[in-house]
Amino acid sequence: MTQTIAIIGAGIAGLATGLALQQEGREIILIDKDAPPPTSPDQSDADFAFKEWQRKGVTHLRHSHAFLARLYKIIRDDYPDLLTALLNAGCRELTFEDMLPPALAKNYVPDSEDKDFTILSSRRSTFEYVIRKFVEAQPGITLLTNTQVTGLGSTRTPDGTLMLTGIDIKTANGENDHIATDIVVDAGGRLSFAEKWLETKGVDITAPEAPTGIIYYTRHYRLRPGQSEPQRSEAPATGDLGYLKFGIFPADNDHYSITLAVSEEEEELRKAVVDPDVFDATCAAIPGLKPWIDASRAESVSRVFGMGKLFTRWRELLPDGKPALLNFYPIGDAYIRTNPLYGRGCSFAFVEAEGLKQALNTHTDPAARLAAYVKYVEKEVRPYYTTMLKQDAQGIKASKALLTPNRKRSLRAKITKSFIEDALMIALRSDITLFRNFVRGFQMIAPSDQWLKNRRAVVKIALAWLRGKRRNAALYPPTPGPKRAEMFRRLALSAEADINRLATDT
Ligand SMILES: Cc1cc2nc3c(=O)[nH]c(=O)nc-3n(C[C@H](O)[C@H](O)[C@H](O)COP(=O)(O)OP(=O)(O)OC[C@H]3O[C@@H](n4cnc5c(N)ncnc54)[C@H](O)[C@@H]3O)c2cc1C
Repeated sequence: MTQTIAIIGAGIAGLATGLALQQEGREIILIDKDAPPPTSPDQSDADFAFKEWQRKGVTHLRHSHAFLARLYKIIRDDYPDLLTALLNAGCRELTFEDMLPPALAKNYVPDSEDKDFTILSSRRSTFEYVIRKFVEAQPGITLLTNTQVTGLGSTRTPDGTLMLTGIDIKTANGENDHIATDIVVDAGGRLSFAEKWLETKGVDITAPEAPTGIIYYTRHYRLRPGQSEPQRSEAPATGDLGYLKFGIFPADNDHYSITLAVSEEEEELRKAVVDPDVFDATCAAIPGLKPWIDASRAESVSRVFGMGKLFTRWRELLPDGKPALLNFYPIGDAYIRTNPLYGRGCSFAFVEAEGLKQALNTHTDPAARLAAYVKYVEKEVRPYYTTMLKQDAQGIKASKALLTPNRKRSLRAKITKSFIEDALMIALRSDITLFRNFVRGFQMIAPSDQWLKNRRAVVKIALAWLRGKRRNAALYPPTPGPKRAEMFRRLALSAEADINRLATDT
């Protein structure tokens, strides 16, 4: 018998789910409220999608994205034709060698594992556009665009548990309809309505939200004809200044973007940096970014996109070990939302899609399926999520501390800072085995804190600490950028306004 699956949302998670679940005997209906990507006879599909694709449902479509090694590996190994299509469209493979700190790059000897550390890099619109085209061409998948899911059909099992039986939709021509399905996947993203629909049915899947403490600002640039990207140098192209985090995102077809993630507490800077001139002036003050905004090398091709309300949240599908409801599987941001700084959301979505595939292929009982799905995601995703939550809390604390003059740092805070700067970073920049361990964690190949429990790694880090600053001098990275007061002076902003505001608030 054919199994029908409705997927609410054809963003990254919806597309990943369509790919993973597609098989003979299944009918998959992907539904998205937004319009399909437009095409142009004159411009490349990637450029046209970037400029013209209306995506009210994905407000972060034009924010910087990078796609981690875990995601690259899934696409490379499970969907090689999709990887070819992505590369043909201009998406780029950034290799392990590209990531090496200068001291390690000099004597680099490749290891067979290094090919698994490659990341994919492109504009998010290009990545999504190519996957969309690929998924649409798969047998057994129908994609309905300009179609909104407006509610959920349901029944109750004999023990009273809610069980979904389909979805209500408003079609492109404004008609209301109902589609009966065996399974409903909620890939409706961070603003999914499922929570509200389920509330009216007496099911609570709300989850507490934790702040990320940052606001995202992104601007895109295109290389001028004949120009190339700046050479790698000692000045870091990603970094954390406390009040501001920054990064370069190489992209497809001669494009790249810069993201400045400003601390939520920095109201003066937040208001100012949305102005393109201030954005570029901020970049010009950061040595690792300066060559990227050189007007003779590249021209800006967008305004500054800003985005706030960036929360972290994980829905509980088995409260007290019992299913909250059956035949309902949230995926992607509808299930787990994270701080975009770590660039993990799309990887999570692909990993979760694999978990759902295994659960549906192994079990027929709806409760067993849900349990298997949750177990898989807990194992594969939770360790990274937990580490990110801790790092977010530390980042928020550090950015608040900058606005608290004359603060006294505790001994513990001083030791932690020294451990990170004088031991961990130095060891990573000088030992390729440790650096591979770090990349494995960062790229979601193995949980981040796992390698830090390894005795040999601990000894190497301790030795780096013991060597002391003088003997390690050559291994320190240059200062990533100006201190807060200096940056505010250069941008002609008041450095005191937010300090005074915070002092009054507390
Ligand atoms: C600023 C920013 C930067 C990021 N950077 C990265 C990065 O570098 N790397 C990375 O891996 N991740 C990154 N992420 C996270 C990543 O973008 C998300 O995790 C990813 O988009 C989640 O995909 P999704 O399909 O769950 O949601 P979305 O991509 O948001 O898609 C949701 C879809 O559902 C549709 N929809 C919603 N409700 C309905 C409805 N009722 N009916 C029909 N359709 C509906 C919407 O139209 C939309 O198409 C970033 C996120 C942000 C906010």
